[in-house]
Amino acid sequence: TVGETSYQPDIASRTPPYPKLLKRLSEVRRILGTSRSLTLAEKILYSHLDNPEEALLSNTDNGLNIRGNANLKLKPDRVAMQDASAQMALLQFMTCNLPSTAVPASIHCDHMIVGERGADVDLPESIKGNKEVFDFLESAAKKYGIEFWPPGAGIIHQTVLENYSAPGLMMLGTDSHTPNAGGLGAIAIGVGGADAVDALVDAPWELKAPKILGVRLEGQLSGWAAPKDVILHLAGLLTVRGGTGYIIEYFGPGVDSLSCTGMATLCNMGAEVGATTSLFPFSQRMVPYLNATHRSSIAVQAQTIASTPSLLNLLKADEGAEYDELITINLSTLEPHVNGPNTPDLSTPLSVFSQAVKTNNWPETVSAGLIGSCTNSSYQDMRRAENLVKQASAAGLKPATDFFITPGSEQIRATLDRDDTLSTFEEAGGVVLANACGPCIGQWKRTDDVKKGDSNAIFTSYNRNFRGRNDGNPDTMNFLASPEIVTAMSYGGSTSFNPITDSIPTPSGEMFRFSPPSGDELPQAGFAAGNPDFFPSSAAPSPTTQVVVSPTSDRLALLEPFAPFPSNDLKGLRVLYKVTGKCTTDTISAAGPWLKYKGHLPNISANTLIGAINAATGEVNVAYDIDGTKSGIPELAERWKSQGKEWLVVAEDNYGEGSAREHAALQPRYLGGRVILAKSFARIHETNLKKQGVVPLTFADGADYARIDACDEVETVGLYEMLKNAGKGEVTLKVKKVNGDEIEIKTKHTLSSDQCGFILAGSALNLLAKMNRS
Ligand code: SF4
Repeated sequence: TVGETSYQPDIASRTPPYPKLLKRLSEVRRILGTSRSLTLAEKILYSHLDNPEEALLSNTDNGLNIRGNANLKLKPDRVAMQDASAQMALLQFMTCNLPSTAVPASIHCDHMIVGERGADVDLPESIKGNKEVFDFLESAAKKYGIEFWPPGAGIIHQTVLENYSAPGLMMLGTDSHTPNAGGLGAIAIGVGGADAVDALVDAPWELKAPKILGVRLEGQLSGWAAPKDVILHLAGLLTVRGGTGYIIEYFGPGVDSLSCTGMATLCNMGAEVGATTSLFPFSQRMVPYLNATHRSSIAVQAQTIASTPSLLNLLKADEGAEYDELITINLSTLEPHVNGPNTPDLSTPLSVFSQAVKTNNWPETVSAGLIGSCTNSSYQDMRRAENLVKQASAAGLKPATDFFITPGSEQIRATLDRDDTLSTFEEAGGVVLANACGPCIGQWKRTDDVKKGDSNAIFTSYNRNFRGRNDGNPDTMNFLASPEIVTAMSYGGSTSFNPITDSIPTPSGEMFRFSPPSGDELPQAGFAAGNPDFFPSSAAPSPTTQVVVSPTSDRLALLEPFAPFPSNDLKGLRVLYKVTGKCTTDTISAAGPWLKYKGHLPNISANTLIGAINAATGEVNVAYDIDGTKSGIPELAERWKSQGKEWLVVAEDNYGEGSAREHAALQPRYLGGRVILAKSFARIHETNLKKQGVVPLTFADGADYARIDACDEVETVGLYEMLKNAGKGEVTLKVKKVNGDEIEIKTKHTLSSDQCGFILAGSALNLLAKMNRS
């Protein structure tokens, strides 16, 4: 039931420290020269530098080549953590023995809630099944002064947009879609738990200064085209690697035509092209959203900064700011897109999608439509989808497939409930799931007759569509689209259906064609607060609270520090596995049923690399020991660990793409992995490896990938010296093949001086704990 209690957030802790940021920005301008034009991303990042002089002048030709070169040591304003990754972040934070977090932080219970039969059944069952973990998170939040959003309160990114994001803010989040907050003009970066711990203990968080990709928006969206289509189109242009090392900064006259939540959708899916983050300049469209979400005082301050030239233009780029790359998109001519299957960058305009279905032999029938999630559950998204449902209902139609709706937060759910949107969906046969991740993260228990191994097509308004992500079935093809297109496709029932041009026969024998959707951007009666049980806890620390981790738990285990790096090069490493093709963090540490072991490193390590394809045989999760014994990859790693044998993995491009999941770094480290040798790495994962003491090396010559194989013996040459010399020096691998031949492979690395310190100490946390002790 919806309570009438109004929600009064603590605004002081949610307001970016504008006076401090403006002071720091003026210092940055003094260092770089007042005539220097800066992009918006640079302004926000540099105004969060711990020591601007040091960061901007070292390694940068005296400040001329900062992007791509400088190591920025940053002091973020806030941290957000979702329930699955918060466990490990908090277990790590606890080892630092501090009484409270140094910056405001929040925990959001969203990932561990299933989507099956609807919120009323799924939520209590999920709470029951995860009680130990939720209790741990709640007690740790209470002890250390972290705002705790209980299960059912909403999905982290929707809640952050509604409560914490603000123009000019810089925040870290332990989830790869944290950049969603860029829709309100914040720099919000997805990181692993160990990075979050940096901010939580007030240690500077390090980032190689990203390059800036400018996306100029012209014209305005109309008809069926939605904000989602902008990013689906951009993903097609950039591919899943195209944003790596870049911040995507939107600008141009088209910005003002986008709603605040629409901008958040674009920023959310910047993660799909590998961007460090994405953001928008301050826009008047942000003001009504801030007002509607209890933050009028922030809107006033942001407006003052934006309209007062002497306040340094903190919230938009300077005239003449230069971008490293530039893309222009005309919103007026953009048509809806459908991306997938299996990769978010396979982008097809709707007008030619039916042809693509035939050419690629994709399934003809749509088996389910799912709307909502953190990407697309705004009031505007849902009202536009509702408008289509109403049109179809008036013609006597019901969805031809299963149709699921995931509200992104309790505030959205309660408002849609009050405004009869949810009842419209339910009367049409839709199932409203809990305000949580559910089917988006493998927590979808399908009750239709689609079995594992059945090839089938689903349409979702989500952001990610790797194989098996939603229902654990590798043969489910997930096509990403706007909520409007997903809704219409659920009625059409066929992947060849084009809702703009095609009609559906109605029960009365007439032909029905959808009109373009419409819907209010914000609720005219304001947002409903929702159930007070879902309001967050207080942020005042309570030092006497007991945080209990049972020694016999199979869900939670306190962490043991990893051993420091030896005082010499590594000898006798073996190649555990040579991976071919895509190797995402889902491949390295699968989600779905494994989510429940996120706080128990030994138990979750049993899923290590189970999705990886063996380069020699094409088999998935089949490894061979030196004597030919066949086993799963984690079993072989365990065996080698028990024999004291350390190992490395060999892989191809963009190793670790996907999420910020630090377990994908922790697990190999726990099982004895020392080095990952790849053609290239995804940024967040590469940082996570370094933080956990695993050395990420890339081939100096990508062709050498073909020369090294599983079970080869490897000795590092120059690694210890390089680590001692703060990253200077080359590392070569001496490889002894199984047949006795010896070869050498030259490598490259991106280890900074601080990161070398992490590896030598055994992990970043070991170093932090040492510094706190001294
Ligand atoms: Fe949850 Fe999916 Fe959003 Fe991740 S992408 S936060 S799993 S809804």
